[in-house]
Amino acid sequence: MAARMIESTDLLIVGCGPAGGVAAREAASRGMRVVVLEKDAVVGSKRVCAAGLRPGFCGEFDLPESLIHCTTPRLALFDPFGEEHAVRFGPGHTSTREELDGTIAARAVAAGAEIRTNALFRDLTVDGEEKLVEYADATRGDRRRIRARHVFLAAGSTAKLERLPHFAFSDWNAGLMTTLQQRWYLARPAVPIAYETLELHYYPARDGRLVVAWMFPKRDHLAIGLGITGKVPGADLRAELDAFADRTIRRLAPGIDARVKLEGHLLYGGMPRPNVGAEGVSIGGTAAGLVDATNGEGIYEAATSGRMLADIAWRYRGDASRASAAYASALHDRFYARLARRVKLIDFLGRRPERFRLLFRQFAAVPRFAELIANERFDRTWADRIFLYVQAARFGARSLLA
Ligand SMILES: Cc1cc2nc3c(=O)[nH]c(=O)nc-3n(C[C@H](O)[C@H](O)[C@H](O)COP(=O)(O)OP(=O)(O)OC[C@H]3O[C@@H](n4cnc5c(N)ncnc54)[C@H](O)[C@@H]3O)c2cc1C
Repeated sequence: MAARMIESTDLLIVGCGPAGGVAAREAASRGMRVVVLEKDAVVGSKRVCAAGLRPGFCGEFDLPESLIHCTTPRLALFDPFGEEHAVRFGPGHTSTREELDGTIAARAVAAGAEIRTNALFRDLTVDGEEKLVEYADATRGDRRRIRARHVFLAAGSTAKLERLPHFAFSDWNAGLMTTLQQRWYLARPAVPIAYETLELHYYPARDGRLVVAWMFPKRDHLAIGLGITGKVPGADLRAELDAFADRTIRRLAPGIDARVKLEGHLLYGGMPRPNVGAEGVSIGGTAAGLVDATNGEGIYEAATSGRMLADIAWRYRGDASRASAAYASALHDRFYARLARRVKLIDFLGRRPERFRLLFRQFAAVPRFAELIANERFDRTWADRIFLYVQAARFGARSLLA
C-alpha cells in the first residue's frame, strides 16, 4: 500500500545548473512530467563560475540577450613568460550564473517543470525499470522518495556517482581541479579594454603545477580566478590568487578602490566519464566530465547535454533503458573526441612552457586557426579541415623541436 503512494514522474533531474535546467525546460515543453531536485535555496545563487559564454549561446538556447554583461571580441592569451597574445574571435560574452541558471530555471517552470529547491539528492536505487530516488527536503526537514521512469543526474563536479556500478570512474578524482575566484566590485570602471577582453593565463604555480587563470569582465565587477589540478592547501591557493589578482588589477584598474568577494569550488578537467547512460539513468554536464580542459568551458557542453537528454528521453519515452543507451552513444559522438584531445593538448603544453608561447603566437599570426580551434563547428568544410590539420602539424613540428 505504502509503495503505491510514492509519487512518480516521467523525468527526475538532479541539479538545476545549465544541464539540468535545459533538460527540464525542453522535456517539459514536450509534455513530459518533470521534477528537478536542487539543493540550493535559490537556483544559481551559489554557483562559482567565470560565466564566459561562447558566441551565439543565448540564441542557441533561446535565452534573452539581456543576460549578457559584456561582449568580448578579444581573447587575450598570456603565456608562462607573461607575454600577451591577442586573438579576435566570436565574439564571446559574459554573464553571471545567478542570472543564467535563474533564467533557465524560470523558463523550465514556465514550460511546466517542477523545481524543488532545498532538495538534496541522497540515493538512487535501480531495480529493473524501477528507479527510486531519495532526497532530503531541507524545508520540511524530512526525507522523501520519488519514483521516475528516467533519471538525469546533473549535479556538477561534486556529483557522487561512485556507488552506482555503471558509472563509477576510477580516474575521476585525478581530473578534479581546485579553483578560487575573486569578484572585484570596482568604485569606478577599469580601463576600457578590460570590458572587451576574456583573459586566460597559463603559468607554473609555486609548486610547479600548471595554473590556468582568468579575468572575465562583468557589468559591475571583474571576475579574477584560477584553477590548479588536484588538491591545493587553502593558504597556498589564496596566496597564488592574491599574487595573480594583484598583477591583474595593477594592469587594468590601478588605484581604484574595490570591494572583493572570494569564492571557491571544484572544477573537473579530465577525460569524460566513460559511461553516462544505462538502465534509464543518464549523466549530464560536468558530472559526465564534459569540460574543456584547456579553458574550463563547460556551460555550453552542459546545456547541450541537457538538450540531447530531453530530446532522446522524449523520443524513447516508452523505454527508458533504450533512451539512456541512445543518449550515452549520442553524447559520446558529440563531445568525446574533442574533449579528449583537449586533455591531451593541455598535458602536452604543460610539459614545456615554450609550447604555450609557440601556440599562442601561431594563433595571433593566423586568426583563422584560433577561430577553428575555439569554435566547435559541425559545418567545417574540407578546406577548413585541411587548413586545421596543416596548422596543427606545423605547431606539432615546431613544438617538438623547441
Ligand atoms: C571557477 C569556475 C569558473 C568557470 N568558468 C567557466 C566559464 O567561464 N565558462 C564556462 O563555460 N564554464 C565555466 N566553468 C565550468 C562550468 O561552471 C560548469 O561546466 C557548468 O556549470 C556545468 O553545468 P552543470 O549543469 O553540469 O553543473 P553545475 O552548474 O555545477 O550545476 C549542478 C547543480 O546541481 C546542484 N547539486 C549538486 N549536488 C546536488 C545534490 N546532491 N542534490 C541536489 N542538487 C545538487 C548544484 O547546487 C547545482 O545547482 C567554470 C567552473 C568553475 C568552478
